Parts: sequence; C-alpha cells; structure tokens
Amino acid sequence: MKVMCEADSKNVWLEEEIVHIPVMVKEVMEYLCVSRDGVYLDCTVGTGGHAYNILSNFPNAMVIGIDWDEEALNIAEKRLHKFQGRYYLRCENYTNAEKVLDILNIEYIDGILLDLGVSKHQLSDVTRGFSFQREGNLDMRMSKKLDITAEHILNTYTLKELVNIFNIYGEERYALRISKNICREREKYRISKVSQLVNIILSSVPRKKYRIHPATRVFQALRIAVNNELENLKIFLTSNIFKRLKVNRRIAIISFHSLEDRIVKNFFRDLEFLEVVSKKPLTPSAEEVRNNPSARSAKLRVAEKVQ
Ligand code: SAH
Repeated sequence: MKVMCEADSKNVWLEEEIVHIPVMVKEVMEYLCVSRDGVYLDCTVGTGGHAYNILSNFPNAMVIGIDWDEEALNIAEKRLHKFQGRYYLRCENYTNAEKVLDILNIEYIDGILLDLGVSKHQLSDVTRGFSFQREGNLDMRMSKKLDITAEHILNTYTLKELVNIFNIYGEERYALRISKNICREREKYRISKVSQLVNIILSSVPRKKYRIHPATRVFQALRIAVNNELENLKIFLTSNIFKRLKVNRRIAIISFHSLEDRIVKNFFRDLEFLEVVSKKPLTPSAEEVRNNPSARSAKLRVAEKVQ
C-alpha cells in the first residue's frame, strides 16, 4: 500500500530543543501502517517523530508510545499534544510492553515499531556522556532507573570484560590496547569524564587518518552494554507480545548496528508465525542520508503475522 506522507523532516526544532529527525518515515508508513485506523505500538517513541507521522497521516489511528527516557517522553508529549485522545505515552522498558497494553486494556494491536539506537535528544544532553564530541559525565544511561553507568564499567570491570565489550559490541580493532590503557589510567584517577576516555583512546590507537573518529566504536560499545540493548531486543522478540498482534499485521524494526540487525533477521526468519516482508533490509534513500547523515546506517526489516 502506498500512502502520501507528510514527512516530518522540517519539524526539527521545538521550543528551542533539538528534536531527533525520525528515520525512514516514508518506508515505515508504507510497510507498517497497513490499517488506516489501527492501534500502533511504538516501543521506542523517543521524542515522538514516527508517532507524529502516524497520527497526522492516519486521522483515525492510535499510538501507544513507550520509552524509558522520561525527558524524551516530555518532548513527545508536547509534540503530540494536538492529537490528544489518540495517543498514550508510558515510561517503561519496552520489554514490558505487554504490561502497558494490559494497563490500557488494549487486547490487540495493528502494528509494532521499534526504532533502536540513540536519539539526537540524548546525544545532545552533555550530562549523559553519549557523545565523544562534547564534554560530559560518562553516564550513558537512557533511563535513570538503570543502575550501571559507563563510569562504573570503566572503573570496575576486569581487563577481559572491557576487551569483550569493545570487541563484541564495538568490533573495535584496538580493544586490547585501549582496555589495557584504561586499566592503567584508572589506577591514577577515576575515569569519569568524556574527555578522559577520548584521550585514553587517542593515545591507544596508531596516529593516522581515520574514516570515523577513533572513539566512535568504544562509545557505541559502552552505550550498548550500559543499556543492555541486545538483551532487551532478544527478550522482546521472545516475549508473548506477538499474541497481541493481529493476523495480517506487521512488525517493523529499524536497527543501526550489525549485531542488532542479525538478531532481527534471525528471529523474523525463525518465528513460525511471522513471514518476512523485506527479504533484504530496507535502507534510507541517498536523499535522506544527505539531509540526515545520522540515518546512514539504518536498516529496516519488516515481518507480517500470518497465523
Ligand atoms: N522513533 C523515535 C526515536 C527513537 S530513538 C522518534 O522518531 O523520535 C530510540 C529511543 O529508544 C530512545 O528514546 C531510547 O530511550 C529508547 N529506548 C531504547 N531502549 C529502550 C528500552 N529498552 N525500552 C524503552 N525505550 C528504549
């Protein structure tokens, strides 16, 4: 089904706050929203970009938006306000999505969306330390309810545990050297600031020109570890949430990391009640990447419930 879509890419500023530009909006509308008056579960509603587009393109649709970041939800609330009565926002881990549906007394839904990764809003908040480009505290928790921070990992995990995190989640070539230097430096001081970690990384890798900043992979790996990102995705995909999805309705997942994409691909292939809609993952158009470089590594996979 093709739909005309009021892409929300210009709606980036909201009351002086930087708002995340939603990724692959047209594709999500086209592949996920097969019912014009459906109830959609947006498990990572963030600042409400995709939700806004669903609500504005389908005047009878409803969105249940979950996010575990309270600040993001506050922005989503302002942004979606004009659709009052057609959306519910809940601060929760999406692994508890069923519980949210129970609370709202909603038995069946017409679509599930997960947009994994980190929002612009989180990246720009220096107090959280997600970005290696801005000085801040090495926190990296998307939800204040999480108890392990990046600082805790850096200062207490063993050399082997650090190497594993950087290797597996970051596919970082210099994981061992960086981890050794972290262990050496933390004997002298507590590693708590973004600039301290960036300096350790820069002193651990060979001096040459890099395509991406040498700190990119380590920061990504720490974020994945702090927020238990891969585990949460697996818990969700093995949960009973699909019992709540109507037959002939779809789940769409946007991932930004090859490990996440592999998990999604394998689950979509192996769950017998799902049929893969997108054999190859959909990717953003060249034009979208030009307008929003953060979209460049996005991959969208879609599956339909068939029984
Ligand atoms: N689609 C959104 C952007 C999502 S960014 C938009 O258009 O605005 C990813 C969001 O997922 C972040 O806000 C993050 O807090 C949230 N998130 C990540 N893991 C989560 C989890 N386990 N439970 C709930 N929210 C999660």
